[in-house]
Amino acid sequence: MTEERELVGRGGFAGLDACVHCGFCLQACPTFLATGDEADSPRGRIELMRALERGDLAATDDALNFHLDRCLGCRGCEPVCPSGVHYGHGLEAARARLTETRGVPRLARAALWFLTTPGVSAVVYWFGRILRATGLPRLFVGWSRLRFAMGMLAATRPMRNAKFGMRNEKAGVNSAFPVPHSALLFRGCVMQGLFSHVHDATIRTLSVNGYQVREIPGQVCCGALHAHAGLPDEARALARANIAAFSDCDDPIVVNSAGCGALMKEYGRLLDDAPVGPGQRFAERVRDVTELLAGDGGGGPVPAAPLDLHVAYDPPCHLLHAQGVAVPPLKLFAAIPLLELVQVPGAAECCGSAGLFTLLEPEMSRAVLAAKLERLREAAPQVVATGNPGCLMQLGAGLASAGIPAEVCHPVELLDAAYRAAGRYE
Ligand code: SF4
Ligand code: SF4
Repeated sequence: MTEERELVGRGGFAGLDACVHCGFCLQACPTFLATGDEADSPRGRIELMRALERGDLAATDDALNFHLDRCLGCRGCEPVCPSGVHYGHGLEAARARLTETRGVPRLARAALWFLTTPGVSAVVYWFGRILRATGLPRLFVGWSRLRFAMGMLAATRPMRNAKFGMRNEKAGVNSAFPVPHSALLFRGCVMQGLFSHVHDATIRTLSVNGYQVREIPGQVCCGALHAHAGLPDEARALARANIAAFSDCDDPIVVNSAGCGALMKEYGRLLDDAPVGPGQRFAERVRDVTELLAGDGGGGPVPAAPLDLHVAYDPPCHLLHAQGVAVPPLKLFAAIPLLELVQVPGAAECCGSAGLFTLLEPEMSRAVLAAKLERLREAAPQVVATGNPGCLMQLGAGLASAGIPAEVCHPVELLDAAYRAAGRYE
């Protein structure tokens, strides 16, 4: 077998080979910071994963499962690694190996079914919206599992704060504004079910910036939750369906959920068809909404009206670490005069949401969240902005449970409010 073939055959495990055990990644790892246990660090987990691959540890090994299950998959360890270890790919490969042996935990399987199965998820999200509209989830927010879930649901509501002059009602775009480009909207599952107001804001803000956003029928879940749960075959089936649905042109595919965008930008690797296969071609068209708004030249969005707000930006791990998108969201905030970005130490660390992690590993998830909440309490922003549904729900529930008076919203909601204030909409 040639060396190249051998690497491909080893899948994501090959990405771990570069580790030289230097330990630079330890202080970037939220779970290591929470427990101080080497086995909860990237370096420790890499050793466990390599032992799994060599067969020195069985996939049924309790300690192996325990410490890999406690990994957020946030990939905060990747940008600080001087050797270029592809930790996330290794973790996906290891989780797939564990899943082959033990199956998917029942709770994870149920969550995937309820949240991503067409037809089923529509009913779940409909019920969620009804419950949200009663206002009850906001009243019951707290730290128990049920109360935290209520807080997560409450955090999905459109941002409404009369003090800031923000509303998120339907509005048309001023038709005098030119729309020379076209982009295709990826709607996703949770984003469509509970954050359709962010889709509306995405369409409006892109229109102001020269994009006509088109709807694409036949699209499905991106597959990220499946890939992270160790179900690569299910993720591949979903990827193929999306590739077929978006295949009628080469226009950019706009995504406003960092977790979805991160996997969709890796469809080529997932389907193993780089450099010119359909997965890779699809991946190259995927753009986070902030990338499109920032413009190809990086000049930033069309300037908006002032919003006198103190905003803490919490970059989603799957935008910052997995996609490497750091500057475009900052350009979005810079387009809003008077908006002041509050610097929060450790903002680039995971909030503990990590897809289904908050549900499956609540203890570790809350420990990671607690560190962030303390720093937010000190910084005292009026708004915490983040571009991923899981992060919005986790941070919203955490802030409300901790009694910190800050609202959460997607960055495009702020730009949308500022464009409304500028009279950009009819
Ligand atoms: S993953 Fe990278 S930073 Fe961490 S120990 Fe290995 S080589 Fe060092
Ligand atoms: S992915 Fe996140 S939680 Fe897992 S080892 Fe890397 S930094 Fe730590």
